[in-house]
Amino acid sequence: MTRSAIYAGSFDPITHGHLDILHRALNLFDYVHVGVIHNLSKTPLFSMAERLDMIQQSVSSDRVTIASFNGLLVDYARKKNIFNLIRGLRAVSDFEYEWQMALINRDQDNRIDTVFLMTDRSYSYLSSSIVRQLATLQGDIHSYVPPYVAEKLKDRIHGHH
Ligand code: ADP
Repeated sequence: MTRSAIYAGSFDPITHGHLDILHRALNLFDYVHVGVIHNLSKTPLFSMAERLDMIQQSVSSDRVTIASFNGLLVDYARKKNIFNLIRGLRAVSDFEYEWQMALINRDQDNRIDTVFLMTDRSYSYLSSSIVRQLATLQGDIHSYVPPYVAEKLKDRIHGHH
């Protein structure tokens, strides 16, 4: 029996924190499917194609698949027939929202289980939004994202150079 999980998020853009969770998930599951959410409430910095490309460039494992999806994560899980969801936890402040989502998702489909993985402490204060803010203000982002992503951020914010 092969075990699979879905790691869903906006990944705008993918950071070392996301990659840390992904690698931990690959220790537990045979296959991890990264599902990139079309976020309806926020206008992303990067288009869906760009976010998918940056993940592709940052992940080398043949046990990882990557795709985008619309709508409810539970519906996507049913479509993929994968009922294990991966979420990363950074600090206690993540817990309330993650707890709510995990239980709401299970209300929607009782087969759903959410597996929470604790990130490495060095990434516990890292988020895509802080990386976007830093990049906008020309801060040093190289320790937070893979080199390919850092280049894309620089291009996006300051134009090609
Ligand atoms: P969402 O919009 O769903 O929060 P994100 O791309 O921001 O999407 O995050 C996807 C998942 O990755 C969430 O479970 C989030 O907690 C986790 N995550 C984000 N940054 C980190 C980090 N630095 N360390 C561990 N997990 C993280």
